[in-house]
Amino acid sequence: MTDPNLISRRQLLRRLALGVSVATVALARAPRASAAQLPLLSPGAQDAKAVHYVEDASQAKGATAGANCASCGLYAGASGSAQGPCQIFPGKDVKAKGWCSSWAPQM
Ligand code: SF4
Repeated sequence: MTDPNLISRRQLLRRLALGVSVATVALARAPRASAAQLPLLSPGAQDAKAVHYVEDASQAKGATAGANCASCGLYAGASGSAQGPCQIFPGKDVKAKGWCSSWAPQM
């Protein structure tokens, strides 16, 4: 008689694969809480102007209610931080209250 608590090798491998997948996604989405701050993106920089970046979303002409860098899917700052990295501006931080025309909802 087999022990009902035993799992097959195939089931074990499936569970391990699922665990690794979930952990990978969680790490990829985790904010960089302990990362050092990067230099702030200047709204006057050419690449910032190209997407109409502003440091205060309330001053943006095209921003919808609630849309700002902190609510953007491309923002990589820690939750509650005043500034953080943005995927479209490597090496720069953007203001959490900022906004640009590339704003995308978080998934
Ligand atoms: Fe902010 Fe998102 Fe634009 Fe980056 S892409 S500057 S996080 S609104």
